[in-house]
Amino acid sequence: MSDWTIQKLLTWITDFLLQKDIDSPRLSAELLLAHVLGLRRIELYTQYNKPVAQEQLDRLRELVKRAGRHEPVAHLVGRTEFYSIEFEVTCDCLIPRPETELLVQRAIEFLRKRSDSQHVCDLCTGCGTIAVAIAKNVPDVKVVATDISEPALRVAARNVEKHQLQDRVDLLEGDLFEPVIPQLDVSPFDLIASNPPYVSAAEYETLDKNVKDYEPRIALYAGEGGLDVYRRIAEKVGQFLKPDGILLLEIGCSQGPAVCELLERTGTFAEIQVEKDLQKHDRVVVARRTPA
Ligand code: GLN
Repeated sequence: MSDWTIQKLLTWITDFLLQKDIDSPRLSAELLLAHVLGLRRIELYTQYNKPVAQEQLDRLRELVKRAGRHEPVAHLVGRTEFYSIEFEVTCDCLIPRPETELLVQRAIEFLRKRSDSQHVCDLCTGCGTIAVAIAKNVPDVKVVATDISEPALRVAARNVEKHQLQDRVDLLEGDLFEPVIPQLDVSPFDLIASNPPYVSAAEYETLDKNVKDYEPRIALYAGEGGLDVYRRIAEKVGQFLKPDGILLLEIGCSQGPAVCELLERTGTFAEIQVEKDLQKHDRVVVARRTPA
């Protein structure tokens, strides 16, 4: 046994990550250490003085080095938490962001108020974040989730299975609504949700290293102005949404007015609102066919 205890390691890794300018260094240190030791985060504190074996120290050193080079901790440990649910993540999909919990919360509130069994569509599902979080929290809902990326859908399939939602979440490969055949796949939908790619060319260049170098460009970049995917969703959404249905779109903080205008021009929606996240940034567009 080495004389490195959990306590000493936590302090050392936190300082190291702080020097490397890594976000949330203490949390990152806890996640890496818990991963290597096979413990839950809370258990690090109940076993604070436990010495750590050399073999584990070697594995830890490698992961800490990679984290210091801005590789996302979610990739290093292969999972992350979103809406208090554990998701597997890989470099094939966007890492779920806490901001997206607002969209999920609005979706769940809307669905719980309705009585019949509900049909939901999640476009650009990635690792299945929105689809799984909704299905897990609304018992009788059925979700069709699409993504253009086959490798991302493979991760989504494992997340659907991990949470035993295979009979309520269907994963379809294709561009936006393209793999959803009206009438066959329980269309039209009560709710359509999406966190699509929305980063513009200029913004893409300014993304943090941990995002730009490690997360898939296809999940982030949406054309010169960042609005390409919203434009294509707006074109088709009317064909897939029930008359009393709702569309929820995550947006970048400066995109509210442009996305609202795109949706207004479709003539599909009676009421369009923008909601702010906890940082007070515009984050979700809520568009209703009939007024609430
Ligand atoms: N919010 C993400 C970021 O800034 C972008 C997510 C997206 O394009 N859907 O990294």
